[in-house]
Amino acid sequence: MLEINVAQLLKKPTGTRRSYEIEGSLDIIGQGNKSHITGEVDFIRTGYSILVDGEIHTSVKIACSRCLETYDCALDFKFEEDFFPTIDITTGLRLPPSDDPDSFTIDEHNVINLSEAIRQYSIMSLPIKPLCHENCAGIPCNC
Ligand SMILES: [Zn+2]
Repeated sequence: MLEINVAQLLKKPTGTRRSYEIEGSLDIIGQGNKSHITGEVDFIRTGYSILVDGEIHTSVKIACSRCLETYDCALDFKFEEDFFPTIDITTGLRLPPSDDPDSFTIDEHNVINLSEAIRQYSIMSLPIKPLCHENCAGIPCNC
């Protein structure tokens, strides 16, 4: 599951930390291939958000830049993002939106969905020149 309910954590004092092991699947590059995601995430209650500190392991099917064959490219990366509440946990009232429209939010059911953050960071960690293996010889010559 890449969705975690943080209602209890939102009621805890600033500095409270919770650790989770996550596992799920996600279409990272939007081609219908689901990548298997595993990782460890720490959720830290800050004064105004839940700070998510994660270490993620996954792989995506991409084309090798030399031989053009599709292969599983392993991705391992860390990320750190603030998730902002949209509902006040004590009053149940809607909070004003954050100043940054691209910031991640906690939904009205107090659930953090990590999918979009993992997708964005996966794409950022893709190699510029992907290689199926270090010594890929390139496209075989047919002459
Ligand atoms: Zn190759």
